[in-house]
Amino acid sequence: MKVVLQNLTKVFPSRNKKTQDDVIAVNDFTFEIPDGQLIGLLGPSGCGKSTALNLICGLQTPTSGKIYFDDVDVTDLPPENRGVGLVFQNYALYPHLTVMQNIIFPLQNLKGNQKLSKTEMQDKANEVAALVQIGELMERKPNELSGGQQQRVAIARALVKMPSVLLLDEPLSNLDARLRLQTREELRRIQRETGITTIFVTHDQEEAMSISDMIVVMRSGIVEQIGKPQDVYDSPENRFVATFLGTPPINQFTGRISQGSLFVGDDEIFKTNDILDQPVYVGIRPEGFIIDENGPLHCKLHNIEVMGRDFSVITSHEASINPTIRSIVSTDSAASLQSDVINFSIRPEKLFVFAQDTEKRIIV
Ligand code: ATP
Repeated sequence: MKVVLQNLTKVFPSRNKKTQDDVIAVNDFTFEIPDGQLIGLLGPSGCGKSTALNLICGLQTPTSGKIYFDDVDVTDLPPENRGVGLVFQNYALYPHLTVMQNIIFPLQNLKGNQKLSKTEMQDKANEVAALVQIGELMERKPNELSGGQQQRVAIARALVKMPSVLLLDEPLSNLDARLRLQTREELRRIQRETGITTIFVTHDQEEAMSISDMIVVMRSGIVEQIGKPQDVYDSPENRFVATFLGTPPINQFTGRISQGSLFVGDDEIFKTNDILDQPVYVGIRPEGFIIDENGPLHCKLHNIEVMGRDFSVITSHEASINPTIRSIVSTDSAASLQSDVINFSIRPEKLFVFAQDTEKRIIV
């Protein structure tokens, strides 16, 4: 199922008539989600991710704009008529029901020619239980399951009606780190096997990057960038997107373009195209630093952290926006470090320049 969002906007009116501080939770969101894709909606707390999801499933109505599933306008359809499956952060399983009873619950209200016999419902429940690999847990109650198992039951329950669109709101947040990793791979597998168009919301950029076909980066209700995870990482359109993606995060500096050169402090680090002289922000990804005694960026060495295959070199620079700079270099190049000053050359594809006024990227 293709999902089309057309100029979708949701305004929550201010409760205080004097201040008029309406919240624009989603602002003019336009996007066509191709059939069968897994989309990660990503952004900091309060950016409008959950509201966007609630609009798609029909739990909230947009202030303006349209939603289409394939070519059908579903903007005014109630959630139960949209054919969506929903999974929330807190699983919301019925504690007094077994896993089997929880999974067949959505099938019990089907009416008319959709009505199923008990055996048919159980067969469908067993089918999705096998898909999410909880077949052996069907007689347990939720409090007899681990968090990861409970989340699988919630996913099975959302899948049992074979929804045309699956919506997941922070589905992995309640899991510990190891289980998160495992469950996100599971999610990807289940999505691939079913081919259901899936939209999932997370504030965790690594999670979104690792399993999504496309990511949508949001801030304050506005879509900042949409694209394949690697493309967005490699080519951020503005400073917000560049800083939001990447672990460790991108290193930021104040800089300037002057007479065809890019300066970070007094260091002339790059010859630019023909660009107007101006103050800029400079972002350099941790993997963009090369230790080079003749390199143009002169930093003060603080510490070296061993990270197995690589070293993390902690330095500082007078133009750095953060107190320290974190660069990741191979062990052999870091082994020779002795002096307090360390020179870097910079991989051009890992360096991004942003205008200081608009924070938009300038191609240098
Ligand atoms: P989080 O990651 O913290 O869940 P989010 O990105 O999902 O955040 P939303 O829950 O969509 O963000 O909220 C977006 C904005 O809309 C926030 O500023 C929030 O305070 C506001 N908001 C959400 N629901 C309502 C509501 N029912 N009434 C008024 N304002 C609301």
